[in-house]
Amino acid sequence: MWVAWTVPAVWLLLAVIDRVVKRKGRQRYRLFLERYGLSVSLGRIQFYTNRVNHLLVRFSDFFPRRWLQAWFTVGVVIGLVLIPLSVGVLVFTLRSFIVSSDEEARDPLLVPVLPGVNLPWSQLVYFLVTIAVSGVLHELGHAVAAVSENVHIDGVGLFFFVMYPGAFVDLHTQHVTTLNSIQKLRIFCAGVWHNVIIVFVCLLALYCLPWILFPLFTSTQGAVVNGISKNSPVYNNLVVGSVILSVDGQSVHSKADWMALLSKISQHGFCANKSSLKRMYTRAVSLSLSGVVECCQNESLSDFCFHSSEPLWDTKKRYFCLNARKFTAGLHCKQTSDCLGKSVCLHPSLDSESRLFRISHVGSKDVIFVGHPMLLHQTISLTDYRPRINLFAFYRLPGVTETFLLYLISMSSALAILNSVPVYYLDGQWIFSAAVDTFFKDWSEEIRTKLTSGILMIGTVLLVLNVILGLTAVLNVNT
Ligand SMILES: [Zn+2]
Repeated sequence: MWVAWTVPAVWLLLAVIDRVVKRKGRQRYRLFLERYGLSVSLGRIQFYTNRVNHLLVRFSDFFPRRWLQAWFTVGVVIGLVLIPLSVGVLVFTLRSFIVSSDEEARDPLLVPVLPGVNLPWSQLVYFLVTIAVSGVLHELGHAVAAVSENVHIDGVGLFFFVMYPGAFVDLHTQHVTTLNSIQKLRIFCAGVWHNVIIVFVCLLALYCLPWILFPLFTSTQGAVVNGISKNSPVYNNLVVGSVILSVDGQSVHSKADWMALLSKISQHGFCANKSSLKRMYTRAVSLSLSGVVECCQNESLSDFCFHSSEPLWDTKKRYFCLNARKFTAGLHCKQTSDCLGKSVCLHPSLDSESRLFRISHVGSKDVIFVGHPMLLHQTISLTDYRPRINLFAFYRLPGVTETFLLYLISMSSALAILNSVPVYYLDGQWIFSAAVDTFFKDWSEEIRTKLTSGILMIGTVLLVLNVILGLTAVLNVNT
């Protein structure tokens, strides 16, 4: 939790340096900030420029005005539909947290992302890039919609707030106030609308990924290892690029199959020819600390202790130290009656959580795994895509693309929800008041103002409660 004190400390230091240098009248520092449109305050660094205004105008002029207005009118419909939906979702989350005693139903919807706490550092780049992309495309929506309504753009900015990047567009306020409420709605809903479009495009891209990657990757056979940690129990057996074909005799066609098989794997026995066991039983048995019977006295990694549920020949002959690779190639069984002829069913000597099974993969001997199956899940990452060309870095491309798309979906959905709830200081405030002006224009201005501020107050409290809920959930899990 070093982030909890490092981040405030860094910001405090920056703010103090900024103050001190400004007080001492360092003209060069002020000029530097002015020249690059930079401003520093506690917890926030901002960059502002008007140099890209003409580019935004040129970009907007590229499309016929009518098309743009039609596009953003669809955005208004979506933005208005999202208001009750996001309010409903926030109310529902809050309600289930208060009413339900079931832990699963109490999952908060808006979970603040805290790098180093609930966001692994290895995922930080995904988070920062996708939040920046979602923010910039959101603001681009406002900017283009504004240009299509002849509103002047004063400037655009990027900022870094505490640990989160963001963007904004500065519209000429006087121009905005002269617009009718539908025109205002087109501009205010444009950000949320663009976030919805991002979510839709990313979902489509995820669905079409096998076809998009088709020229470079095939996804028809097995699941491909694209990362394996050094502390994985199978680190010496599998490598990046290994294609896993089956787990415990069950085919693996995808990463999802692998996960499903690992989570439900149960321990079975293996059939062994009774007469071949006669010379192999062992008397020397001992109990491990976890209460598991051990009967292999040598330190060999290839032998493993198996036992029969009933004694064979006489009461003592039920433990056998056998070569695991050879023996587990036999038929699977639950009891001796499942085996053919004069065979018996032997089970590996394991604690209740551990399993012994084979993992088959392309081009090498099966891996014999003994341990908790979830250890494999935690230490191996897989992808469904196998490169057609054997280049090392290629293995990572599908995984990186998938993760990037998933992050973009969750960041853009969060921005869409946050900005459609009627809340002070966010898009929801402007969308809601313009919507009230549009649909209740016959009402007196006083009543409309009262209605708007009442709902905004409720919306703000609702959002704050949801964020507090998310924050407590994160801190509870991580402490
Ligand atoms: Zn916005």
